[in-house]
Amino acid sequence: MEARLETEVCVIGGGPAGAALALRLARLGHAVCVVERHAFPRSHVGESLTPGVWPLLDALGVVDEVRRGGFLPALESLVCWEEPTGRRVRGRAGEPGLLVDRGRFDALLLGAAASAGVRVLQPAVAQRPERTADGWELPVLHEGRRLVVSARFLADASGRTACLGGRKQMVSARTLALYGYWRGDTPHGPETRVEAGPDGWYWGAHLPDGTFNAMAFVDPELLRERGIGRRTLESFYRELLGRSSLLEAWTAPRLVGSVLACDATCYRDTVPIERDRIKVGEASFSIDPLSSSGVQKALQTALSGAVAVHTLLARPEHAEAALRFYTEDQRSSAEQHAAWAAGYYRDARSYQERPFWKRRALAPAAVAPLEVRPPLSEDGLSHRRWRLASDAALVDTPCIVGDVIELRRAVSHPRLGRPVAYLEGVELAPLVDWLGQVPGEGLTMPQLADSWARRMPFRRSVAIMGWLYRQGLLTEVTADGPR
Ligand SMILES: Cc1cc2nc3c(=O)[nH]c(=O)nc-3n(C[C@H](O)[C@H](O)[C@H](O)COP(=O)(O)OP(=O)(O)OC[C@H]3O[C@@H](n4cnc5c(N)ncnc54)[C@H](O)[C@@H]3O)c2cc1C
Repeated sequence: MEARLETEVCVIGGGPAGAALALRLARLGHAVCVVERHAFPRSHVGESLTPGVWPLLDALGVVDEVRRGGFLPALESLVCWEEPTGRRVRGRAGEPGLLVDRGRFDALLLGAAASAGVRVLQPAVAQRPERTADGWELPVLHEGRRLVVSARFLADASGRTACLGGRKQMVSARTLALYGYWRGDTPHGPETRVEAGPDGWYWGAHLPDGTFNAMAFVDPELLRERGIGRRTLESFYRELLGRSSLLEAWTAPRLVGSVLACDATCYRDTVPIERDRIKVGEASFSIDPLSSSGVQKALQTALSGAVAVHTLLARPEHAEAALRFYTEDQRSSAEQHAAWAAGYYRDARSYQERPFWKRRALAPAAVAPLEVRPPLSEDGLSHRRWRLASDAALVDTPCIVGDVIELRRAVSHPRLGRPVAYLEGVELAPLVDWLGQVPGEGLTMPQLADSWARRMPFRRSVAIMGWLYRQGLLTEVTADGPR
């Protein structure tokens, strides 16, 4: 007889997104099972983590384990991008980013999920799932046997494989990453290296096991034009690296193992969530490796995805809000990132006429760059008079409230990427309501901030007022009327 396993939520993939989603859902009281193809530790690209992962690791309760994990701090980079001469970039104050062994990092996260009560099937390969009357049946190959996992809710966290399929919209030019691990005699400093070249860009970093990962990102057409195949890949990769300063990080560098290639194109799934399934991490969207924040994004999608799934399962009356929240969150994250990446490609001025750079410097049309007003002068603060901009409005928008998603009134404006309900923990709708009633001749900034004094400390009301001004939600009232 076929073995069966019943669970409430089944997560396919035990990378950062799958482990984080499973962990959060288990803590919210759900029965969760993760199906992971590989035994851990297994190698994976994505070894440089931005400092932005720390609050997410904190939310997952794994900061101490990660600190003890023997990973390297990413303190400094050598960047050769805007100009042919390089510059040193030190991380901002605060906890630095990390260079990790993804095998161990991912195992640590999945171990934390297991400790929170998640059932982990590993190594176990998920096959094509089928919808049933009350959920899903997922065939799994585990320990040489076929097992059927039956679940009310299914999560695809299988990374670029995106094993649930669906329509993927490309948001960048097709990109191929070629990489290999190197050892050498004397490392020339622990800096991460980022460099622009005529037909692509390079990234290199020292890793905790003493190797150095050297990557080249190119157009796949370049390989096609040159007739590069499996047998000639290594010499082509060496030729690319020869044009960069990456391997100057070592004396006498030796390649360990073979040269690897993987897709690094950015895309987004157009339907990342439905009532009975969700896609998180790279199964939902992928961003340009240029930012080194793929793992951060994977964790973020898992955390907001967990709230959406919890709402669908525990508070179905808010299902529409949960679906809208997650769909808009994924769309705007992917679009904002694509716009940021296009700007960064434009900055590489030395190569702006080369096809590789031209293709990537085009920002996707959906995202207009945010125009932020300059700070106000003293005079602007004390004498000029302001009122709410006529195109600001309050709209119902889905927000995270505690552990669920509910509709809340939020302020919307053409210059805001999306409606905003809370700022510095303060609900904006009552403040904006009040601003809408300011008399036609307007009030000065101190008068406006003062009038909120009963609701919050004066400093906070000044900060919120400053934000409203910078985003264009306040209009100056002059002798000729508002402008
Ligand atoms: C070339 C390149 C360089 C990058 N560099 C960086 C970087 O420096 N920093 C950074 O933060 N990000 C980087 N990224 C992005 C980063 O790798 C990803 O964002 C991150 O790994 C996504 O996590 P995930 O959990 O969504 O998917 P993954 O980490 O890919 O995990 C998916 C898991 O699903 C499992 N799986 C797949 N199919 C099945 C199946 N059928 N059954 C069971 N299990 C399955 C896989 O074994 C895997 O463990 C890079 C990406 C590329 C392509």
